[in-house]
Amino acid sequence: MTSAHAHNLIAEAAERLGQPRVSFEFFPPKTETLETQLWEAIRKLERLKPTFVSVTYGAGGSTRDRTHRTVARIVKETTMPPAAHLTCVGASRDDVDGVLRDYWAAGVRHIVALRGDPPGGADAAFAPHPDGYANAAELVSGAKRIADFEVSVAVHPERHPNSASWESEIENFKRKLDAGASRGISQFFFDADTFLSFRDRLARAGVTAPIVPGIMPVTNYKGVQKMAQGCGASVPRWLATIFDGLDDDPETRRLVAAATTAELCTRLYAEGVEDFHFYTLNRADLTMAICRIFGVRVSKEAAP
Ligand code: FAD
Repeated sequence: MTSAHAHNLIAEAAERLGQPRVSFEFFPPKTETLETQLWEAIRKLERLKPTFVSVTYGAGGSTRDRTHRTVARIVKETTMPPAAHLTCVGASRDDVDGVLRDYWAAGVRHIVALRGDPPGGADAAFAPHPDGYANAAELVSGAKRIADFEVSVAVHPERHPNSASWESEIENFKRKLDAGASRGISQFFFDADTFLSFRDRLARAGVTAPIVPGIMPVTNYKGVQKMAQGCGASVPRWLATIFDGLDDDPETRRLVAAATTAELCTRLYAEGVEDFHFYTLNRADLTMAICRIFGVRVSKEAAP
C-alpha cells in the first residue's frame, strides 16, 4: 500500500464512517518507575479521546489491588471512562462479587469479564474454583446481578484453544451476549482477513453485536511468538521476515511496528471497522503514531 493509496482509503472511510474510535488497554504497574511510565502514557493518549481505557487483571487475580488502584485513579484524575478487567480464576463467587461491588462503589461502570487462564496457560484444561464462576458467561451474569455494569467480553477470531469447533466458539459468545455483554473485544491477530472472516462468520450465524479488533503493535517478534502460542493466535511468516536481523535494533523495530500496524488498522477501517482496541503495553508513542497515521485526531483542548 503506498501512502497516497492509504490516505485515499482513510479519507473514503472517514467520509462514510466518521473518525475511527479507539480504546486503550493498560496493565497495572509493579513499581513506581513503571507507574510513572504508565501515567505519562495515559496523559498522552487521553488527547485521542478514547471511548474507554481498560486495565488488565493479572493471572489468578495476582494484581487485584493494583488493578483496583489504577482504575480508581483513572476515575479520579482523568476524563476517560475506565473499564476494569476481571477473571474467574482462583476465586469464589463471593470474592469476585466483592471486587465487583468495590468497583461500582469507586465509580467504575464498565467491566471486561473474562474466564482467565489456568496456571498452565490458555490451552491447559481449566478447572474452576469449587465455589467460583465457571466461565466468562457466568461472570457476566454475576456482574449484571451486582449492578447495571456495561460489560465487554473476549472473542477469539482464530478460535480459543479450548473450543471444540467454530459452532461452540460462536455459541459461547452468544451465551455471553445473552448474559448481558454488549461487545466482544478480540484477541490479537496480524492479518486483517483473520478478523474480517471472523466478522463474516458471526454475521452468518446471526450475531450482530459489535466486535472490536484488539490491536497489538508488535516490536519484538520472539516475544509475540511466545504470547501467540499460548492463546491460539497465528503469527504470519511475513512478520518474521520483516523483523529478521533486527534483534539488536529496537529503534528500527519500533518504526517497522508503527508502519505495519497502521497498515492493518487502515485496511480494517476501509472495511468498515469503526472501533479499535489497542494493547498499549503502557507505552504511548507507538499507539499515538499508529492512531495518527490512520486518521484519529488529537483533541486540541486536551493538549498540554
Ligand atoms: P470463556 O468465554 O469462558 O471461554 C473459554 C473457553 O471455554 C472457550 O473455548 C469456550 O468455548 C469454552 N467454554 C466456555 N463456556 C463453555 C460452556 N458452557 N460449554 C462449553 N465450552 C465452554 N486474561 C487475564 O488473566 N487477565 C486479563 O486482564 C485478560 N484480558 C483479556 C482481554 C482481552 C480483550 C482478551 C481477548 C483476553 C484477555 N485475557 C485476560 C485472556 C483470557 O482470560 C483468555 O483468553 C482465556 O483463556 C479465555 O477467556 P474467555 O473470557 O474468552 O473465556
